[in-house]
Amino acid sequence: MHLFDNHNHSQFSFDGGRTSVEASARAAAAAGLKGICFSDHCDHYVPPMKASFEDLKPEHFDVPQQQAEIDRVQGLLGDNIKILKGIEIGMYEECREDIRKVLSENSFDQVLASVHYIQQTDPYYGGYYDDKDWKQAYGTYLETIYREMTWLAEGHRGRIVELDRDALLRYREMGGEIISLGSDSHEPSRVGTGFPHFAGLLKSLGFRWTAHYESRKLIQLPL
Ligand SMILES: [Zn+2]
Repeated sequence: MHLFDNHNHSQFSFDGGRTSVEASARAAAAAGLKGICFSDHCDHYVPPMKASFEDLKPEHFDVPQQQAEIDRVQGLLGDNIKILKGIEIGMYEECREDIRKVLSENSFDQVLASVHYIQQTDPYYGGYYDDKDWKQAYGTYLETIYREMTWLAEGHRGRIVELDRDALLRYREMGGEIISLGSDSHEPSRVGTGFPHFAGLLKSLGFRWTAHYESRKLIQLPL
């Protein structure tokens, strides 16, 4: 199998203190993966309400530093594993200029777009749900994802939407073929967790390939 873990965090993420590029890349090689992509957090806006729950820190990282470290570790590990340069960009409408800037000034293998914050809140800690029923809350969230993804995709190649397990079969039935695996690991022991199981599940649902990006180009490898 040619499995890549396309969603991992390192010491360059504000919450990545439990691992490093080197530790997680070594863990990926030890797990038999062919590649790992570091998609460190880059949120330009952090809602002030988060300060009631944890110490606020900037949530964006120094891209050239992260990429230099990836080059260094790639040199150490050689052909054992391919280490890809990614970013998990926090989509927030008021931050579009910052987002455009970081994406145009750097080159990435993969850009992962996430909506972590919405309407000046962090839904993880509540607040967002207080004055909404579930339909309004999830409807607004999904519409925000769709709007920001559509904006981001203008002028860029390739788009993969993160799907949960229940949506996979429907996606396949509708002709969907592009599947990317990512653990969202924040520590080495989580890299590639359950990937042989998920590869088997995908095969059983009729998928033939897994996908990853190199220099923003889609690559599909047989499952
Ligand atoms: Zn993540």
